[in-house]
Amino acid sequence: MTALDLLDLDPSLTEEERQIRDVVRRLVDDRVRPYVADWYEEGRVPARELAREFGKLGLLGMHLNGYGCAGASAVAYGLACQELEAADSGVRSLVSVQGSLAMYAIWRYGSEEQKQRWLPSMATGESIGCFGLTEPDHGSDPASMATRARRDGDDWVLTGGKMWITNAPIADVAVIWARTDDGVRGFAVPMDTPGVTAREIRRKMSLRASLTGEIVLDDVRLPADAQLPEAVGLKAPLSCLTEARHGIVWGAVGVARDCLETTLAYATTRTQFGRPLAGFQLTQAKLADMAVELVKAQLLALHLGRLADAGRLRPDQVSVGKLNNVREALAIARQCRTILGANGVSGEYPVLRHANNLESVLTYEGTSEIHQLIVGQRLTGLSAFA
Ligand SMILES: Cc1cc2nc3c(=O)[nH]c(=O)nc-3n(C[C@H](O)[C@H](O)[C@H](O)COP(=O)(O)OP(=O)(O)OC[C@H]3O[C@@H](n4cnc5c(N)ncnc54)[C@H](O)[C@@H]3O)c2cc1C
Repeated sequence: MTALDLLDLDPSLTEEERQIRDVVRRLVDDRVRPYVADWYEEGRVPARELAREFGKLGLLGMHLNGYGCAGASAVAYGLACQELEAADSGVRSLVSVQGSLAMYAIWRYGSEEQKQRWLPSMATGESIGCFGLTEPDHGSDPASMATRARRDGDDWVLTGGKMWITNAPIADVAVIWARTDDGVRGFAVPMDTPGVTAREIRRKMSLRASLTGEIVLDDVRLPADAQLPEAVGLKAPLSCLTEARHGIVWGAVGVARDCLETTLAYATTRTQFGRPLAGFQLTQAKLADMAVELVKAQLLALHLGRLADAGRLRPDQVSVGKLNNVREALAIARQCRTILGANGVSGEYPVLRHANNLESVLTYEGTSEIHQLIVGQRLTGLSAFA
């Protein structure tokens, strides 16, 4: 880390922030790094076990207050995401979806009863949550969602389906967004409700150490109090996405750092033509350009985190961070792979796993194109979405 900290950013963090980062790093070194290549290869992850470990450390819903949540700062949460994603984007996704999407939705928009019912057990990792916005035919354009919730007496009846939902195969509760006669509303749906089924999506070539599923809602009858009372319209799920995207801005820094650390170590020890790979000018040009992009990404993440803690972070600013940091992390992962030669395609090194994971990160929580449109709208005042 020290060689890569070209701008001496470390002292910009408080003592407490550095401590949180280091504790998460140690947990990840102990509980994730030694196993994650196998999980990835086998397309599985002990998500419940990990959730309980992360819960013990207060990482689930870490930036929320009350209900057993740690009430940490946005920067501290970002640093935790950074360290988790330095190990694997899928493991960071487990924590992001739990804390920033499912828990945040209930914390921000739920009734007191819903918060009491779900948040304490989600904070400890005893209950797992997921967030169902995307549908098979409606991804970037959630406003066109087909899932419906209709009133039947006091009950709600939900019909439709959600696709590509992280944690769905093991979730206890799904936050489901559905169209009603009054616009989009959110529902906390226990996954054991009759009519709810979750099927795991197999054969992913990316984010393989993360569970992704399809949720089918077949006339799912819910009591009136399953609706999140404060969530009115599409801006509610979009605000949850802003929370999660902020974590991704930091996570991307972690992946890029891990790729560069791996590559620096490799290039200084691997010899060709009688000298270390790192001694060739072409390799140094690659390393220098990547290290410059890394510190720029770190500065951006820290700036956005400080804005969030000051209560001044706008969604379009998060788009700047997600667009830049994921794009640059992916470019860094691909470039690092070239320096590792054939070893770059081996699961013995994390680099291609990271690059493959970043293909999902580039797409979820708003694709790069959608973030370009958000930034474009901010610049021009014109919406070019449709
Ligand atoms: C591993 C994984 C986990 C996921 N987890 C979740 C989850 O937990 N919950 C959830 O709700 N969703 C989840 N998603 C879904 C993800 O958010 C969507 O895939 C994403 O929003 C894009 O939707 P889509 O795949 O339908 O692509 P589409 O919307 O069909 O887009 C396809 C392409 O067209 C481009 N495009 C679309 N509209 C425009 C436009 N107006 N202008 C220019 N280009 C455009 C896109 O940028 C993209 O390049 C996950 C996805 C993956 C891969």
